[in-house]
Amino acid sequence: MNLVLMGLPGAGKGTQAAKIIEDYAIPHISTGDMFRAAIKDQTPLGQEAKSYMDKGELVPDEVTIGIVRERLAKEDCANGFLLDGFPRTVKQADALEALLADLNKQIDHVIHIGVNPEKLVPRLTGRRICPTCGATYHVIYNPPKVEGVCDIDGSALVQREDDQEETVRRRLEVNVAQAQPLIDFYAEKGYLRNLDGDRPINEVYSDVQALLGGQ
Ligand code: AMP
Repeated sequence: MNLVLMGLPGAGKGTQAAKIIEDYAIPHISTGDMFRAAIKDQTPLGQEAKSYMDKGELVPDEVTIGIVRERLAKEDCANGFLLDGFPRTVKQADALEALLADLNKQIDHVIHIGVNPEKLVPRLTGRRICPTCGATYHVIYNPPKVEGVCDIDGSALVQREDDQEETVRRRLEVNVAQAQPLIDFYAEKGYLRNLDGDRPINEVYSDVQALLGGQ
């Protein structure tokens, strides 16, 4: 199953992705996670990405398309994949179509988690991440059992640097502008599946399961 997960930052893509990859056994390909890993490893890619990410801007298309091309060619994508946070521009979406055609694949569904942008600032600024296992929490909507501590491995939770309010506002501005042309692109291709993301996590996930079929 070849899936693309779309939605504004804070729409709940990461949370839904974690459930999908577990239930449907496909790799989670998050360009944001790949850039963060490159920053942590201090690679040249990481250095370049960081200069954009710190400002809430998009990393240039050529760079982003390059890392996705390499990733999709890997063996573990043979039975499907879940792209999360890519494509974010029509240029990336065009590149993805070409790339998949080369690999003799095509997208099955583009799952778009729609949310009211007004609600996203508190969703993002309240987000906390486990630096060890990547689990995501929210101080109000999805708190860990013990404040500030990961339920899974006990690490101290952190806030992503780009989840601070000023950067969040810039990220939303950039992403709102990019989202509509992409939604139109996939609607025209017949891949788009719209879900209402302004609901509890499990209700959104029930819709995902209804779409993908139970496992
Ligand atoms: P995310 O974790 O998906 O919110 O991404 C964090 C940051 O990584 C974004 O604000 C961008 O700077 C960068 N990024 C992630 N995915 C892409 C993409 N598909 N195109 C350009 N930049 C991206």
